[in-house]
Amino acid sequence: MNWLRMEVISAVTSWLMSLACQSVPIARNWLGGFTPCQIDDLTELWKKLSPSAKIYYPGSEDFEEATARWSVLDAPKVNVVVVPGTENDVAETVKYANQKELPFLAFNGAHAAITTLGKMDHGIEIYLNQLSSVEIAKDGKTATFGGGIMSKNVTDALWAAGKQTVTGTCECVSLLGPALGGGHGWLQGHYGLIADQFVSMVVLADGSLQTIDATSDLFWAMKGAGANFGIVTSLISKIYNIQYSNWAIDTLIFSGKKVEAVYQAANDCLLKNGTQSANVINWSYWLNIPAIDPNNPVILFYIIQEGVDVVDPAYTEPFHDIGPLSETATGGSYIDLATWTGIALDAPPCQKDGLVNPRFPIYLQTYNVPAQKRAYNQFASAVSGASVFNNSIFMFEGYSMEGVHAIAGDSAAFAYRSENLLAAPLITYAPAGSDLDQQAAQLGDQLRQVLHDASGRTDLRAYVNYAHGDETLEQWYGSEAWRQSRLRALKKKYDPEGKPPSNP
Ligand SMILES: Cc1cc2nc3c(=O)[nH]c(=O)nc-3n(C[C@H](O)[C@H](O)[C@H](O)COP(=O)(O)OP(=O)(O)OC[C@H]3O[C@@H](n4cnc5c(N)ncnc54)[C@H](O)[C@@H]3O)c2cc1C
Repeated sequence: MNWLRMEVISAVTSWLMSLACQSVPIARNWLGGFTPCQIDDLTELWKKLSPSAKIYYPGSEDFEEATARWSVLDAPKVNVVVVPGTENDVAETVKYANQKELPFLAFNGAHAAITTLGKMDHGIEIYLNQLSSVEIAKDGKTATFGGGIMSKNVTDALWAAGKQTVTGTCECVSLLGPALGGGHGWLQGHYGLIADQFVSMVVLADGSLQTIDATSDLFWAMKGAGANFGIVTSLISKIYNIQYSNWAIDTLIFSGKKVEAVYQAANDCLLKNGTQSANVINWSYWLNIPAIDPNNPVILFYIIQEGVDVVDPAYTEPFHDIGPLSETATGGSYIDLATWTGIALDAPPCQKDGLVNPRFPIYLQTYNVPAQKRAYNQFASAVSGASVFNNSIFMFEGYSMEGVHAIAGDSAAFAYRSENLLAAPLITYAPAGSDLDQQAAQLGDQLRQVLHDASGRTDLRAYVNYAHGDETLEQWYGSEAWRQSRLRALKKKYDPEGKPPSNP
């Protein structure tokens, strides 16, 4: 028995002794739904866990750190954190939770901001961060990853071995958090979504640990609706030899007055009706940078290209001709991308600062230029100056879609393979009560609606991993009746009691 485990046991024991089956109302309130006798039984769980497992209780720094979330709006509430040391510890914890009728939720990078998570008002957090192993197969075609591994750890471990695979772009999100909802990443233009890399996984569904692959009906659901079906404790994923080690970026900043010219150029020179080269990515943010424009949000536009030291002028010159406020060309390697685009571990989007961060996603085919202008004007008037929403950003992610389009649409629960762009206002603010939450939701919905109205579509297509939470099941998982009925049937089969509370 190691020191840490001893320390935890003694802390648990004294804490439990102080509570032992009290029926004091104040204690019950504090426990938020647990009865003291249920908590007492944690010793029963503890005995079944491996020596490397940990349990964190409220009041400890570890608990605070493990429960902090990227967005505090309708965040799930937990009373205790179990940190499994092994895959079997996850199974034991879930069995325990089920026996005691306690809600539980897997925490990985804790970036899920969907408001449906707020339905969890007490229960057990299963914090997966110790399950972070990487093992590259001898044939170099696959790797086995622990269910709690972070994107950066995947990228760094594979890079050191001359390999890579599709992960989320942001260094602080996990591999599986994005993947279970589909998962967009820099390399998707070649290989498809993160979920398209799944070969097999160990998943705790139906109360038992099972290894599933393409022969299982559950496998389809794990590729796009996975957070509803069970906890993935490990994953075998496809990996690839590094094709190009060099990448380049052109970072342009435009005044908002140029919004029409910028997105016309993006349509004409980059997106090209959904045929953007597999080696090219366009990304932009609207945001306030007062040092550059004190009055209105600017357009921060990235053109990223793989296999070159400088982005091809055929892509950049049309943008230079528009007259940016600044332009910076940088070259380096794949592992520089997160720093260049402001989403590395130490960058602001990776911090858990107690902010409210709802997003309102919509997939699109193309930039509708007049709608971009209308959305910009509305965004600018809502977030400029001293607005409480002045840290908000409007994101436009123009990943290359070639590898995603190339895979059959019915191969996964992810429904939006034919799309070309992912847009989302992200309304950021300090928490200040439900009136402000409603104002933010209204603003986010209005901005998304401007783009939706211009799309000419009847159905709104939302990326579930960015979802606000008030969208419909059809908007998250596709409006085709067969998708909905297949998901419902699988839910009934594998999770009839609706255990993971992230989505209904
Ligand atoms: C800064 C930032 C950058 C982002 N970048 C990208 C990106 O590049 N590409 C992209 O597609 N999305 C991206 N997203 C969205 C991202 O996919 C979601 O926020 C996702 O929920 C993050 O996963 P996580 O592990 O960090 O969060 P968590 O909240 O820990 O997990 C997300 C959900 O998945 C469940 N879950 C996590 N791990 C497992 C597991 N092993 N088994 C079963 N269920 C599990 C959790 O219970 C939760 O419901 C980004 C989000 C943020 C905030």
